[in-house]
This record gives sequence, C-alpha cells and structure tokens, in this order.
Amino acid sequence: MCGIVGVSDNRNAAQLAYLGLFALQHRGQEAAGIVTADGKRVTGRTALGLVAEAFPELTLKTLKGRTAVGHVRYATSGDGDLKNAQPLIFDNVHGPIAIAHNGTLTNAFSLRRKLEKRGAIFRTSTDSEVIVHLIARHPGPVEDAVIEALRQVEGAYSILFVTPTKLIAARDPRGFRPLVLGRLNRSYVFASETTALHQLGARCVREIEEGEIAIVEDGHLKTLKPFKQEKKAHCVFEQVYFARPDSVQFGKGIQETRRALGRELAKEMSGTVAADIVVPVPDSGVPAALGYAQESGLHLELGFVRSHYIGRTFIQPAQVLRDNAVALKLSPVRELLKGKRIVLIDDSIVRGTTSRRICSMLRAVGVKEIHMAVSSPAIVSPCYYGIDTPSKSELIAATKSTDGIRRFLGVDSLHYLSVEGLLRAVGGETPENTSFCTACFTGKYPTPIVDFTIGQSSRKGDFRPALNGIEEPASEPVKEGKQ
Ligand code: 5GP
Ligand code: SF4
Ligand code: MG
Repeated sequence: MCGIVGVSDNRNAAQLAYLGLFALQHRGQEAAGIVTADGKRVTGRTALGLVAEAFPELTLKTLKGRTAVGHVRYATSGDGDLKNAQPLIFDNVHGPIAIAHNGTLTNAFSLRRKLEKRGAIFRTSTDSEVIVHLIARHPGPVEDAVIEALRQVEGAYSILFVTPTKLIAARDPRGFRPLVLGRLNRSYVFASETTALHQLGARCVREIEEGEIAIVEDGHLKTLKPFKQEKKAHCVFEQVYFARPDSVQFGKGIQETRRALGRELAKEMSGTVAADIVVPVPDSGVPAALGYAQESGLHLELGFVRSHYIGRTFIQPAQVLRDNAVALKLSPVRELLKGKRIVLIDDSIVRGTTSRRICSMLRAVGVKEIHMAVSSPAIVSPCYYGIDTPSKSELIAATKSTDGIRRFLGVDSLHYLSVEGLLRAVGGETPENTSFCTACFTGKYPTPIVDFTIGQSSRKGDFRPALNGIEEPASEPVKEGKQ
C-alpha cells in the first residue's frame, strides 16, 4: 500500500505535495519522497521514515518547480531499502521521467525477466520499475509510451508520472486503488484520497475513472480512456481498514461506511450474544463499534486508552520490545471492564496475534466474557494488488476454523461479518454483481495471477515472486502504522 499526490501549475507545488503526504501518511510509513519539475528538469528527494522525518524544512525549499509529485511507501521489514523509495526518477530517450505508484503489478516478474534477457539493467527491486523500462523502449511521444507500457502490465496501479512539462495520472482498468482529481485555483491536484485534497485546500472534482489517463500540460487537462473496459474491482479493504475515515470514496464517506459495517454486523449477530457493553479496539474498530452500538442498542464504552507516543524506532529493535508493543500501545481501562461481558469490535483479523494479546490483556483486568465481533469477513487469501496481507500460511483464517481461531484468541465467541453483509454495507451490492474486489475474503481474484503461486503474497517493492522459487520469510514483519 502507498499514497500518492500530485500538484500542477503552482509555485508552492512541493509544499502542497508535502501537505498532501501528511494526510496520506496512514497509507505508508516506510519512506517518503517528493519530486518537482520546472520545465527543464525533474529533481527530487526520497528518504526513509515518516514525512516529517524525511523532509526537514530546508530540504523542501530546495525543491523548485511548478509541478510536484509525492509518495509515501508502505513496505515490510525486508524491503525498506532507500533505493526502492519513490518517486523514482529515470533518464531515458524521452528525457527525465518520475513515477509514483500505488498498487502491485501481477505480471511484473515475467516482464522483468523478458526485459533483462534483452539487456535491461534494473536499478531497484520494485515492480514499478518495469513500467519505466517499457516506457523507455517506446519511440514516443511520451504519452503514447505511457499508454503502451500500461497496456502490457496487469494488476493494480494508480500512478502519477512527471516529465519536465507534464503531469500524467493513470488508474488501472479495474480501479483497484483509489485516485481522485481536485482543483486548487488554477492548479490540478491528484491524490490517493480526498482527505489529501482537503488538507491542501483543494476542491474534489471527481475520481479518476477506471482505465483513465489524465494529462496536465500548460495548465490544461486532457483525459483519455485507451484501454479495453474491464469489470470494476475496487479494493473493498480500503473501505474496511485502509482509507482514512474522513475520506470519501464513490460518493460515500469512509467513516459512514464503517459505521454501516458495524450496523450490519449487529444485525447478523442479533440474538446470539448477551453482553453488557460494546468496546472498540482503537483506532480502526471505533466507527464499526459506533454502528454496532447504534443498531444493537448496547452501550458503547471506550475500554482502551491508546498511546500515541509509541514510535517505530522504539518498537523495532528488540524482540522483547516487540512482544510488548501491543501492551504499550493499548491499555485497558480496568474500572470500566472488570466483571463485564463485552462485545469487542475490530475491523479485521489478519494473523490473529494482536487480537490474541488484546484479549489476554482484557482477561487480566477481569473481563468476564469476550465476544469478539469483526466488521469484515475472515481473511482467507493473500492480496496480490498492493495490500500487504501475509502469505496463506500466516493468515489465521486460512489455516484454522472459526472455532480454532476462537480458541487461539481465548474468547467466548467469535463472529465475522458475512461477505454478503460486507457488500450490502459498502454499497448495497451482492457478491454476484459487485464493483468491489473481495479476493482476500473469498479467494476469487479478479485478474489472472501471472507471477505468484496462489497462497504466496505479493510484496510491493520486495520483488520475490514464486517463479524464482524463493519463499517468504516466516517471521512476522513489525509495522508501525495504523492499528
Ligand atoms: P491481528 O490480530 O490479525 O494480528 O491484527 C489485527 C489488527 O491489525 C486489526 O486491528 C487491524 O486493524 C490491523 N490491521 C489490518 N490490516 C493491517 C495492515 O495491513 N497493516 C497494519 N499495520 N495493521 C493492520
Ligand atoms: Fe483489496 Fe483484498 Fe482485493 Fe487485495 S485482495 S485488492 S486487499 S479486496
Ligand atoms: Mg486495528
């Protein structure tokens, strides 16, 4: 997962991109980068860490030019290399070009192999670089090169390209990852989420459509749809967990959608548990818990205090600290919880390890019954489209039955939202007729998975598809970020 933002025709382009990245920080905390174009050159800076760490004020001042693109990167422990941080700038026959990509390509490895056989030398281990090589092989003009390059790739991409004089935005034909268009006076702004537009004072115009290319040059916007139309496959996990609650996707606020997920869950669970209070796991479980409380009539209590001061540097170095990471971040409010029967709400269970620690903390303060309710279905398959869910062997719901998970978590009962309930809540849809990708919940992938063996996850930037037979590390990557 990553976040991207682009600004055209503005003398404060770099500063605006910087502000936009702050609003997209939840989409990636591993590295941040900004490039600018001044009509002749494309220059920029990438650095590891959070936006605020990556860009001291002085550095920002050196980024000159009326067009800027920013990227925040989400990666796992093994692939946090600076060389993979984006935007990536490449010199080629069309001049310099920078790329900022959100999503994962499902055929990048085969394309890379082919290109390497013909002599291409790759600089990074990201799937995104394949696009640049394909662009470089096209005679031009650069828009045509971009279109022809994108025609050859499969999978998920919301991308921004910068040339000295152009800002180009593209979204894959299925629209896995979000991308919106905004306006700030005479400037065009592109961003992964509407909250970034609001952050820099821009008005949201519309979403970039599935398979659409938008080109800004000399202050004018041109759009085209050069690809074959495909069935839409918007990532439903954006609705469940990833997008920021104050963003709007497909005309609906994410906060409201998550509340609807909680209401739907309460309807499905109606009459199944007797409890005293509803408790969210902060922060991601809060909107769903509000909806659950609303629908069920049960009282909502903030049973956890969340510390906002636990930084990555503190969590990462030693195993003993990692083991305590959950307890450092979340602290149960004993006086509220002691002797209570609770419905514990979270948005999702991935490995189950966090949830298990949370439940044992609740037992330790004397919670009498824990009924864990999850506002999405069980995650049974990895994502190949840019969300870093682990491989099948690490997904708890892929290896254990619901009762097995219940026992692992140490809860009295465990309830997941159904796929039908999920789709009803996000947009009044059914599994037969949906515009969402639900593959991680159903195992039904909307594209062929060219370069991965089903069961192994895709890791953007850590380019180790199954074709070369390298297995993923078994260790649990430690990530700072949204909880
Ligand atoms: P688990 O119990 O599976 O270890 O962790 C569940 C928690 O992880 C939930 O609170 C959920 O919000 C959070 N979560 C879900 N997906 C992701 C992700 O991609 N990255 C991070 N950092 N947390 C996630
Ligand atoms: Fe989103 Fe899941 Fe589809 Fe990946 S597999 S794009 S996380 S819905
Ligand atoms: Mg969470």
